Amino acid sequence: MLVYKIQYFFMHKGVIRLSILVAVGALLLWGWSFIPNPKEPSGQQDSPAPAEIVEANTPVLLEKEVDINSGDVLLGLLVEAGVDSAVVDKLITATKPVYDLSRIRPGHKMVLFFNQDGLLAKLYYQIDDEEELWVQKDEEGEWTAQKQPIPYEVDIVEAEGEINSSFYENAKAIGLDDKTIIGFADIFQWNVDFAYQVKKGDRFKLVYEKRFLQGKYVMPGRILAAEFINSSKKIRAFYFSGEESEGYFDEEGKSLRRAFLKAPVAYKYISSGFTTGMRYVSAFNISTRHRAIDYAANYGTPVRAVADGVVTFAGWQGSFGRKVSLRHNSTYSTNYAHMSKIAVRAGERVKQGDVIGYVGSSGLSTGPHVHYELVRNGVKVNPLTEELPAGDPISEVDMPAFLEVIQPLKQRLDG
Ligand SMILES: [Zn+2]
Repeated sequence: MLVYKIQYFFMHKGVIRLSILVAVGALLLWGWSFIPNPKEPSGQQDSPAPAEIVEANTPVLLEKEVDINSGDVLLGLLVEAGVDSAVVDKLITATKPVYDLSRIRPGHKMVLFFNQDGLLAKLYYQIDDEEELWVQKDEEGEWTAQKQPIPYEVDIVEAEGEINSSFYENAKAIGLDDKTIIGFADIFQWNVDFAYQVKKGDRFKLVYEKRFLQGKYVMPGRILAAEFINSSKKIRAFYFSGEESEGYFDEEGKSLRRAFLKAPVAYKYISSGFTTGMRYVSAFNISTRHRAIDYAANYGTPVRAVADGVVTFAGWQGSFGRKVSLRHNSTYSTNYAHMSKIAVRAGERVKQGDVIGYVGSSGLSTGPHVHYELVRNGVKVNPLTEELPAGDPISEVDMPAFLEVIQPLKQRLDG
């Protein structure tokens, strides 16, 4: 019977990669499930279980990993794998409240589990790096879907380094991968401008998670604690998620978040810090009358609003080319110039981090960059040195838990 099944699946594989894993173990288990449990009260073991329950509990014999290619839809993939289209319809309907299966993406892992009758018993789909989806029949024989965190095994590790070329290169050199490097810079994105303020001799240290599945390293997880010594000034950040507070906070529970981001281009796009591309940047300089900061980045790089606000100008303005202006409150406004494309309209409200346009070289410009101005009461000021209002600190309710959580992390940073 098993041999027959294997042939069956090979005949139908098409674009489907076949993996037969648990056959022997499952067969044993299957046999085992028909041996009456001697501890069960007599009488019960003789009465056959309802058909639905037998079906729901049927051990899985075959596991098939499905390759999702661009343009694939679930119905096509499952029918090709030998699943009845009526079953697929039921499964999609049952999953809707939890996850929309029309959103399956190429490259994401999908596994089908078939029982010994060749019927689909379970479907697994990895939604993203954090969550997975399981669709299977419940005891009544109805398809039911569940979304849950991927059960990684987690190691908590430390890393530290010193900057002598660029933060990116030095972090890479000590074995950090891109996700952790960008994550580290993002933690400090309200406090440090990684394009301009990172100096030779600065030090960084972090405590972070490494995720494994079945003993195999998969990817880094969350950064739990981070320390950055920037021009001898030490900043620490601890991750905390409590009843009312979530995010990164310093040792006293003050948020690292500010009403303003330090830079209008995310660290991962800044040429000088992240890639080894062209360097075309120019700092705030009163004597040259460049009362702005220029961030070099590739054409099309998203430009983000540094703070919540309202669009007061969006269009062409002489030598500034395509320009967007935002008003944030009665004190501050910001300008972003030389864009290749504008993504907002005058009068629109924006949130901190929203994309307002894309890097270009429009107007008087010699290369792709964003010319960024911070204006306080009508005067252009230096965004790098301006003290801007902080976000909400840890709430009183969460404070005791916060102090407990960060205690061991502090020790690791100190050590
Ligand atoms: Zn400029």
